[in-house]
Amino acid sequence: MGIYGRTNKRKPEEAQQRPHIRKGDTVVVLSGKDRGKQGRVLRVNATKGTAIVERVNFTKKHTKPNPGKNIKGGILERESPIQAAKLQVICPSCNEPARLGSHRNEEGQAMRFCRKCKADLSK
Ligand SMILES: [Zn+2]
Repeated sequence: MGIYGRTNKRKPEEAQQRPHIRKGDTVVVLSGKDRGKQGRVLRVNATKGTAIVERVNFTKKHTKPNPGKNIKGGILERESPIQAAKLQVICPSCNEPARLGSHRNEEGQAMRFCRKCKADLSK
């Protein structure tokens, strides 16, 4: 943490990038120690632009025993959020890591599609 570590400035609106991934997507990690790993997106944090992906970015957390809450002490391995920009969606239709395009349909809903096979990935 630098000298700005304590400030909690909100980023300007344009700096917020809406993640292209969604919960339930299968993604592949493009960089970092988990490069090449695949997993299912468990959670997306649109504000932070991060996602939690199954079996990706495991970190060890030391937990203290808390009998009142029935928590055992020890080392717990958990998925940590990873930058959505490091993830690429695997198209369920052509089964390849795909760039996604988006457009709006007649109802004004944002639609996603695979740029490779043009499959609709909105669901
Ligand atoms: Zn595709």
